[in-house]
This record gives sequence, structure tokens and C-alpha cells, in this order.
Amino acid sequence: MTDLALSPIDALFARQRAFFASRQTLDIGFRKHSLERLKHALLNHREALYSALDADLGKPREHVDLAEIGEVVHEIDFALTHLDEWAAPVPVPTPDLIAPSQCYVTQEPFGVSYIIGPFNYPVNLTLTPLIGAIIGGNTCIIKPSETTPHTSRVIEQIITQAFAPEYIAVVQGGRAENTHLLSLPFDFIFFTGSPNVGKVVMQAAAAHLTPVVLELGGKCPLIVLPDADLDQVVAQVMFGKFINSGQTCIAPDYLYAHASIKDALLAKLVLQVKRALPDVGSTGKLVSSRQVERLASLLEQSQGTVVVGGQVDAEQRLFSATVVDQVQWDDALMAEELFGPILPVLSFDSIDNAVDLINRHHPKPLALYVFTQDTDSAKPIIQHIQSGDAQVNGVMLHAFSPYLPFGGVGASGMGEYHGHYSFLAFTHKKSVRIVA
Ligand code: NAD
Repeated sequence: MTDLALSPIDALFARQRAFFASRQTLDIGFRKHSLERLKHALLNHREALYSALDADLGKPREHVDLAEIGEVVHEIDFALTHLDEWAAPVPVPTPDLIAPSQCYVTQEPFGVSYIIGPFNYPVNLTLTPLIGAIIGGNTCIIKPSETTPHTSRVIEQIITQAFAPEYIAVVQGGRAENTHLLSLPFDFIFFTGSPNVGKVVMQAAAAHLTPVVLELGGKCPLIVLPDADLDQVVAQVMFGKFINSGQTCIAPDYLYAHASIKDALLAKLVLQVKRALPDVGSTGKLVSSRQVERLASLLEQSQGTVVVGGQVDAEQRLFSATVVDQVQWDDALMAEELFGPILPVLSFDSIDNAVDLINRHHPKPLALYVFTQDTDSAKPIIQHIQSGDAQVNGVMLHAFSPYLPFGGVGASGMGEYHGHYSFLAFTHKKSVRIVA
């Protein structure tokens, strides 16, 4: 069959297959050069990204510098420093049973990979996985989110400037395009998004036995023990919950405070929200009016007490920083991941009971946060709640270390990436035994 008989997406896939077969991506120098090209093209589009991310999500420049551009550049530089050592074959001992022989492990690229991106950090969450595809020696098709059209267009410009489409290309589109792409026999799929679409992706991948990494979401708890530094909790909640209008997969979803300090904590938090985020537009924009309406409807159904916030401007896609006290586990706000600037507050008397309730209602969250001045007392809590990642006395910044694997478990996903883990995610570990 010639390219002419294929749809443009099928033709692109066939060209990437042929390019992978040319073996150019096996060369480590080629991969490093590709990282340099990506970095150069990304930095070339800084101004365009500021405007696009402002239009799509109302992101301030300093957030773009930190969490969109900065994080990707940091990962590129880290990979450039370490790629030679990661890509080297690893010699292993030979047991007597199969001696005499030499054994080692090599890391092979999968082939043609597919990256599906979400809307909330659209640059970071398409280009950081792309670093994994490049260093692993794969070709790649990227589908950015259709709900951030300005940014998705700039991502396409970056990729087009840096790479030939037979190596790395962007396909724009939504559900229809994704469904078509998912029907193709990719060698590896990397998906970031909601658990529901994650199931669709995994089901489609099963038809071709394609390996997947799924980076999903969920309800991340923030637990406050009686001895916590309440000012520190407030500062971290202000940052973690309200940055990007709460649209962060590792944002604390709900606050779970010991009953003895809950009121004191809330008094400080409310004061700070009124001081720092007083307006309906203070936290940035939600991605769509539909998301604003979803949150407004959950708030309306809630049996809790709104102690600050609650203002909505659906047309402008704005929702004020909102704190809701006296929320119970069966409340509308506790049914699903909020992914917006609403913070439900629950309280507990016994930490063992609190751990059981978290594990029962929202098991295996993507991130878990515990605040206490006795860090030893946080360790059993972290051990008894399975989660993708965990922090004591901090939120979210663990995602910025290339030394730490980033990923979920169970409902919050499978597989991990960042730093060396990105290289491991995008390669097959091949055992080799040589009998001389
Ligand atoms: P989403 O699942 O709605 O969309 C993700 C991608 O899937 C988009 O590219 C979209 O076009 C595609 N898609 C949507 N519906 C589809 C369908 N029915 N069939 C095929 N493809 C479809 O996710 P989102 O709203 O963009 O992002 C928010 C979610 O992503 C939250 O759950 C959040 O927690 C999660 N998330 C996770 C991480 C992580 O690293 N674990 C990071 C960011 C966001």
C-alpha cells in the first residue's frame, strides 16, 4: 500500500516506522543532538508560550517559567549529562549454572511511541515525556490537549521547528483523532490524563499488546497532625491548592486536619485567602466554562459550610479560591477529584481511623501530604497509605527532582518517569548471554 492510499495519520505512522527502521535513533549522539534541538526550539518560543498559556489558562509568566519551560529545560540538561551512563550496557555476573558465558543487559528503544497530553500543564506534560522518548531512541507522535488550543499550536510549532515529522510530529485533535491513533499498533504509549480515559487507552493498547505508562489523577489528601506548624500548612495549601486554579494532578484535593487544631488552622487559612486571593480571578482561569459549572454544581450540592470564596464567573472561566468546612466523606465534594480551587475540610480524632477512611474512600492517591513537626510520626502514615508519591511538610515540589520517580499506583496510574526513570520507561531491558 502506498502512502497515498492512507489517511494522513496512517501515513505519518508508516513514515515513523520506516524512520525507526533506518536505525538513526540508535545513535546516542543523534539523541543528544535531538535534545539540544528541542531545548533550542522551546526557548525560541518563550514569548509565544507566555501568550498562549495566558489565553488558555491565565497562567502568570513566573508559573510558566517554573512549571512549564523551566522543568522541561532542567530535565533536558539532566538527561544530556547522564545519557551516556544510562545507555551503556550493564554487565552482570554469570551464575555457575550457565557458565562459562558473558551476560549483560542492554536497553533497546521500543520503536514508534505515542504521547497523549492533558490540558493542565500542556507544555511540561507533553515535552517531559518526549525527553524520555528521545533518550530511549524512539520516534514519537504527540497529541496535545484540544482544550488548550493556543498552547497546542505553539507545541506543534516547537516540534516542527526542531524535528522532521518522520521522527517526531504533533497531531492535533480530540477524541476522534485519539481514537484513530489508538487503533494503530504503536510500540509504546505514554498517557497523562483522567482515570476514565486511561481505561480507554489501556483497552486500546491491549489489542496490540502495546506497553503503556498511565499518569492519572485522583484525590490527594493533605493530613495535618496536632503538632503541625499551622503557618507552614497555610503557606503550602495556598501554593499547592490554588496555583493554576487547582488544576494540578498532585494538588492537595482535600484537607484532613486533627480536630484539636482544625479551627485554628481554618482561621489562619481564611485570613490568608482573603489577603492574597481576594478576587474571583485571583487564581487564574479554569480551562473551560464547563469546568466552572461542574465545580459550581458540586459546591451547590455540598452539605459543608463555605467559609471563604464561592464566587463564580462562568463566562470568564473564573472561580474564586474557596474553602468549605464541615465536609463529610459522603459529600458531593468528596465524590471525585475536584481539579479546581475548592478545598473541602474534614477532621479526625484518631489518626488510625483517618488512615482507614482514606484507604477505604479514595485509595492509592497520586500524592499524599502529611504535616507534623515530628517527622518520625509521619513515616508510618506514609507507609500505611499506598500512594504514587508522598511528602512531609511540603507539597508538589517532589515532582521537580529528576532523581525521584514520578507516577501513580492503582487508580492513580502505572509506571513512572523523570530523570533516569524516563529512560527506563521508554526502553526495553534486553538480556544478552554470549557463549564465546
Ligand atoms: P482527559 O483524560 O480528559 O484528557 C487527556 C487526553 O485524552 C486529551 O488529549 C484528550 O484529547 C484525550 N481524550 C479525552 N477523552 C477521550 C476519549 N473518550 N477517548 C480518547 N481520548 C480522549 O484529561 P484532562 O482533563 O486533560 O486532564 C485532567 C486529568 O489529568 C486529571 O484527572 C488529572 O489528575 C490528570 N493528570 C495527571 C497527571 C499525572 O502526571 N499523573 C498530570 C496532569 C493531569
